[in-house]
Amino acid sequence: MSSQKGNMSRSRPQKYKNKTAFKNNLHDTSGRTKFINSLQVSNVCVRCRDIIEWKIKYKKYKPLTQPRKCVKCDQKTVKQAYHVMCVECGNRLGVCTKCCQSKEVIKTAPNEQEQVKMDNEMKALLESLPKGKDEHSLDI
Ligand SMILES: [Zn+2]
Ligand SMILES: [Zn+2]
Repeated sequence: MSSQKGNMSRSRPQKYKNKTAFKNNLHDTSGRTKFINSLQVSNVCVRCRDIIEWKIKYKKYKPLTQPRKCVKCDQKTVKQAYHVMCVECGNRLGVCTKCCQSKEVIKTAPNEQEQVKMDNEMKALLESLPKGKDEHSLDI
């Protein structure tokens, strides 16, 4: 059985394609990723927020393992990575806690109400579920 199929002479040897698919979970725990994704960037200017959010998005964000020294009050009060100033100093001086420039900074709105609302919704959802249905299948 002779077949001429695929008898094309290649000028170049086929290169082994090393696909570099972006993976961020190589040495990362899902808990940490979750934590980073849930971070709310605040007390910084729009520009700095964008930079930090970019880092979060592309998994370049490295959270602080311990509080960092604030450049203003010299206390170890900086709890967020990439910020150089603590929130208190930032508020007092009216500056961005990352680039230290007096720009309009982003404040996180107190979302306590939001939380309560979600809790109530969750409760309602749980109550609406049919009760007495035991789905445990461990009765061997
Ligand atoms: Zn400070
Ligand atoms: Zn800034």
